[in-house]
Amino acid sequence: MRKYVIMGVQGSGKGTQAALLCDDLDLVHISVGAIFRWHVKNHTKLGAQVRRLVAAGELVGDDLVEDVVRERLQQHDWNFGFVVDGFPRNRPQAEFFLESYDIDGVILLDLPDEEVRRRVLARRLCSRCGMDYNLIAHRPEIEGRCDVCGGELVTRADDTPEALARRLRDYHGKTDPVIDLFRRKEYVVVVDARDDQATVQQAIRDRLGLPAYRAGSPARLNA
Ligand SMILES: [Zn+2]
Repeated sequence: MRKYVIMGVQGSGKGTQAALLCDDLDLVHISVGAIFRWHVKNHTKLGAQVRRLVAAGELVGDDLVEDVVRERLQQHDWNFGFVVDGFPRNRPQAEFFLESYDIDGVILLDLPDEEVRRRVLARRLCSRCGMDYNLIAHRPEIEGRCDVCGGELVTRADDTPEALARRLRDYHGKTDPVIDLFRRKEYVVVVDARDDQATVQQAIRDRLGLPAYRAGSPARLNA
């Protein structure tokens, strides 16, 4: 059984790295963001709540996140382990998590704020099918048009420099104490997230003593 937490600021490739790790090792990727997106897409009550918060440029509350993660872990479908992504978000949650689950490691994807700004402000989204693009790493074939459906590419409403600065402050304010707590327990492996996807994945595996990454494995991006 392998139980990991993956942490990293938005734009650090956290979701992709977690998906690559899970695909190969039969781990369950428990992504708080993906769970919330599912609720938004399926117009649940929770989804409506999340939609309101995001429109206001705010983050989903810690209580809501905690409930969602607890419920998800209680399904116990993770026979070989899991990678939790998007949790814990504060010290009490981290303490609860450490007491309840025997965590094998915390992966911290390290990305300087300047690089976060560069990456996040290059993100685009298809206004028709929702496909994600990035003008640095994943450019559309025709500028401003979706490769899949031809829809118009737009910037996310919350990807402005001001909103991003606010999210970065919020991220550091909340996450740095969690990382400190994990560091004291000696769980944390720090991986430089500026490298390309395959290099970062291999670095994670080296640090955790896991089987080598087979380059060319299908990546489920944004999972
Ligand atoms: Zn599209």
